[in-house]
Amino acid sequence: MSIHKQLPIVVIVGRVNVGKSTLFNRLASDAHTIAYDTPGVTRDMVFDKTQWQNCAFILADTGGISITKTKDPIEQEIRTKALDALQNADIVLFMIDGAIGLTPEDHDIAKLLRRMGKKIFLVVNKTDYAITKEHIDEGLSLGFPLYGISATHGRGIEELMNAVIKEIEHIEPGSVEDHAYRVAIIGKPNVGKSSLMNMLLKKERSIVADMPGTTREAVSDFVTFYQEDIKLTDTPGIRRKRGVTHPLEQLMVKSALRAIDAAHIVILVVDGSEGVLSDQEIKLAFYAFEEKHKAVIILFNKQDLVTDEHKALLEQQSLLYDHLLDKVAKLSISCKTGKNIGKIMPLIHEVWERMQFQISETELTMFFNEQLTRRPLYKNKQALTFYRAKQIRVAPITIQLTVGHPPYWEKTQLGFLDNQLRSKYTLIGVPIVFVLRKAFGK
Ligand code: GDP
Ligand code: GDP
Repeated sequence: MSIHKQLPIVVIVGRVNVGKSTLFNRLASDAHTIAYDTPGVTRDMVFDKTQWQNCAFILADTGGISITKTKDPIEQEIRTKALDALQNADIVLFMIDGAIGLTPEDHDIAKLLRRMGKKIFLVVNKTDYAITKEHIDEGLSLGFPLYGISATHGRGIEELMNAVIKEIEHIEPGSVEDHAYRVAIIGKPNVGKSSLMNMLLKKERSIVADMPGTTREAVSDFVTFYQEDIKLTDTPGIRRKRGVTHPLEQLMVKSALRAIDAAHIVILVVDGSEGVLSDQEIKLAFYAFEEKHKAVIILFNKQDLVTDEHKALLEQQSLLYDHLLDKVAKLSISCKTGKNIGKIMPLIHEVWERMQFQISETELTMFFNEQLTRRPLYKNKQALTFYRAKQIRVAPITIQLTVGHPPYWEKTQLGFLDNQLRSKYTLIGVPIVFVLRKAFGK
C-alpha cells in the first residue's frame, strides 16, 4: 500500500440526517465496513482513502453533526473537528435533504463555507422523492454548482463524482510553498528564536538585540536540506495567557497558534536556564502534538547557562508530563556556543521522515491483535472487540481502527495502542491519529 502524502481531501458536510454517511459508505473503498449502521453510534469523523476512476483521494465524513454553534461541550469538540477537516479540505460536498429543502441550519453552513473559500459542490440528496422545483431553486440560490443524487439508490453519483475528479485534476501541482514542508519556530520572547533562525538560515536576517521581543512579526524563509524545501517561520513570542493584557501580546499568542496550525513540524524553543517549562509552554506543546497532530521538537536553548540544578528540575518535570514529553523530540542546544546547532536540521529531517511512516494493514492488524491478546482492553468490564487496523494517511500518521463499539475506545484505550506502536517503531516526535469505525453487522 502506498499513501501519497498529498492526496486531495474531499469532505462531506451537512446537517444531521441528510444522508452523509450513506454517501460516504457508497463511496468508501472498503465495502466490508460501514461507518454508521446505527445512526449516531459514533459521531466522530471518519476517513477513507478511496478512488473514483483511478483518481485517488481521501474522503472524510464530518459525522451526523451540526457544524453550527452549540453550547454542549461534546458537540463543540465535534464542531471543532469538523472545522479542522474543512480547513484541510480541497473539495467540500455540502449535502442537503432535497425532500425537505433548505433549513436555517443549511443557510448557516453555507455562510460558513463561503467564508472558507473552498471549492464547494451542493449535493441535493434524496432525489428519489419527488423534489419540487421550489427546492431546487432554493438550492441554486446558494450559488454553488448543484448535483441531485439519491445516496441510497445510487442515482446521480456518477455525475457528481465525475465533476469532483475533474476538479481534483485541476488542483495545481503546487508552487514551492506547497511542496515545502513547513516548520514553525515558536517560544516565549527572549528564549533565542531569532538567534536560532539566523543560525539555521546562516544569514543575519534579523538583528538580535539584547532586548526582549525585538522580533514582532512572523518571518518566513525557505531553506533547502537534503533536496527538500523547508519553510521556516519564526513567530513572535508567547507569554502566559493569564498575564496577557497588552493587545500586542494577545497578537503574539494568536500568531503562535496560527503558526502551529499552518506547520507540519513545530519547534518549541525554551530557555534551558529557566529549569522547567512554563505552563504555557507545556500547553502549547500539548496543543500542537495532541490536538493539532503536528510533529513537535523541543529545543532547550542556552545550555551554556544550564546548571546541574536546572537539569534536576527538568528531570522532575519530565516525570510529571512523561505522557507528552517522552513522545516529542528533544535536543539541548546553545546558540551562543553553537552546541548541537548542526544536529537541528538533521533532526527536523528525521522527524519529517518519521511522519511518512507506513505500515501494511496485515502487519498492523496482526501487531495490535497480538498486543490485545496479551493485554485485553476493557471498558465497564466489557472486553473491547477489535477487528482490524488500516493506515489511511501519513503526515500525520492516521490509523483507522475497525472495532465493535467505537464509543468504548477512549483516550486510555487508544493510548495503549499508541504506546505499543511507539515501543516497536521509532516514532519520537510524531503524533499518531486514530479514527474509529464500527464493524459492519457487529
Ligand atoms: P447523515 O446523518 O447525514 O449521515 O445521514 P444518514 O446517511 O445517516 O441518512 C439519514 C437517513 O436518510 C437514513 O435513514 C438514510 O437511509 C436516509 N437516506 C439517505 N440517503 C437517502 C436517499 O437518497 N433517499 C432516501 N429516501 N433516503 C435516504
Ligand atoms: P527571541 O526573542 O526568542 O527571538 O530571542 P533572541 O534570539 O532575540 O535572543 C534573546 C537573547 O538571548 C539575546 O540576548 C541572545 O543573545 C540571547 N541568547 C540566545 N541564545 C543564547 C544562548 O544559547 N546562550 C546565551 N547565554 N544567550 C543566548
